[in-house]
Amino acid sequence: EFNPQMIQVTGGATGFIPAPENKGKPITVIGTKAIRQTFDEKCLEQAMNSRGAPGVTDLVLNPDAHCGYGAPVGCVLVSPTHIYPGPVGVDIKCSMSLLQMDLPADAVVDRGVRRALINAILERTPTGAGRGQRSARKARKVSTVNGEKVLIEGASPVVCAALGIPQEWASRCEDAFHVGHDDTKDALGNRLAYLIAEGKIPNFEEKVIQLGSYGGGNHFGECEVVELVDNQRARRAAEVFGMKDNCVAFLSHCGSRGMGHRLASGQFRTLQEKFERWGIALPGQDKELVYAPLGTAEANDYLDDMAMGANFATVNHLLINALVLEAFQEVIPGVKGQLVYFISHNIARRERVNGEEAWVHRKGATRAFPAGHYSLIDTPYYETGHPILLPGNPQDGSVVMVADSGAEKSCYSVNHGAGRCKGRKAAIRELDQEKVDAGLAKHDILTNCRVYPKDEAPAAYKDFGEVLRSVEEAGLASPVAKLKARFVIKD
Ligand code: 5GP
Ligand code: MN
Ligand code: MN
Repeated sequence: EFNPQMIQVTGGATGFIPAPENKGKPITVIGTKAIRQTFDEKCLEQAMNSRGAPGVTDLVLNPDAHCGYGAPVGCVLVSPTHIYPGPVGVDIKCSMSLLQMDLPADAVVDRGVRRALINAILERTPTGAGRGQRSARKARKVSTVNGEKVLIEGASPVVCAALGIPQEWASRCEDAFHVGHDDTKDALGNRLAYLIAEGKIPNFEEKVIQLGSYGGGNHFGECEVVELVDNQRARRAAEVFGMKDNCVAFLSHCGSRGMGHRLASGQFRTLQEKFERWGIALPGQDKELVYAPLGTAEANDYLDDMAMGANFATVNHLLINALVLEAFQEVIPGVKGQLVYFISHNIARRERVNGEEAWVHRKGATRAFPAGHYSLIDTPYYETGHPILLPGNPQDGSVVMVADSGAEKSCYSVNHGAGRCKGRKAAIRELDQEKVDAGLAKHDILTNCRVYPKDEAPAAYKDFGEVLRSVEEAGLASPVAKLKARFVIKD
């Protein structure tokens, strides 16, 4: 039974001829009518190719969906038998995290204070593709950690202690660490030793030094004011999440930097070469839809590399949050901060969905487990559901949500943002720089950028209100808090 806001798109329904194996396999689409019109033909074609791919039993297209590599950004792909690197993506475990400060909103009204915060944060958490070393303070911290341990153990007590990350924050991560294909850490140790010996991760130490940095492009850090939603359930959830009304919080978006990229692209290359050698056709002839059946050496290697990329991303985010807190404390002595949550949107996880155990690939999609979900047992979120961190854009704000029981129909997932409505090139071509900058100025949002990058402008993203309506009308999740941007740090 489908909510009227959800349609089942089946092969042939959208105006192009699907491959025969796609015929009749339904795709779950979450989106109001206006949102469904944002899915272009290429995006739908990618969704159908992915749905018809070997071993795939379910595919969900979220409201933020747009064209990606192989599979759309903003989709969930489920398979009990196969693993797909494309529907995880090259930035393994790209994630959002939120740090709640015990600081009233009034403290960041003053522009001088905000400017000082921007500078203190930039001093510690470099932006820019490839960069990672610029900050001497950060470098001192990172130089004390063993990079191999980070990849193998994730946010373990030893790694957290070496980097000055409060150990307690690890319990507020979607996953504090990831293990290898056979559920052991040893598998990762062996795999990493092999990769290093074979020169498959060049400049390993330089990549380790990138820990605690945002990188470039779409990643950002944003200072927020929290506005709690005024109903009993939202208030209860906010209490469990540790969120404070009318106080300052900090939202971060970042992934596994050069380390994850290297691990992922190595996998693509290896698998693509093998498919070519074997002469096996790829779903939709799409090179990004390489795959490996579970239990094969190829699948094991992929799962190990994904786990190591994910461990790197986890530690990277936690370190960023520790450095951001340190920056706040430099400008506003005595301020305290607590991690609300760390949640990823480029990862495959083994979960129970649709009555069986399967690998749930969320590509630009976020986990959404409601209260009582089996995997929240022994976490602080069993009674409420975990926090869902959902950025929109700096101007229209972001939200924190909590899943509803309806999330079952989207394989316990929601979108990870508003999603692009303009490609980068189109945004640069079509948008007016003065208007972009004036929009942010009108909302009194400071930025570190001299001119705001047009390809990251709010107008390059879908209507956030319509995206949220899609989520709520489909019964997937409900809002707990609104986040209003006070400054944004972008490359
Ligand atoms: P992605 O991981 O696909 O690059 O993007 C995640 C989402 O973050 C986007 O869909 C967009 O809605 C949101 N987003 C991008 N830039 C910003 C920003 O500067 N601030 C906020 N709050 N959200 C952003
Ligand atoms: Mn990313
Ligand atoms: Mn991302």
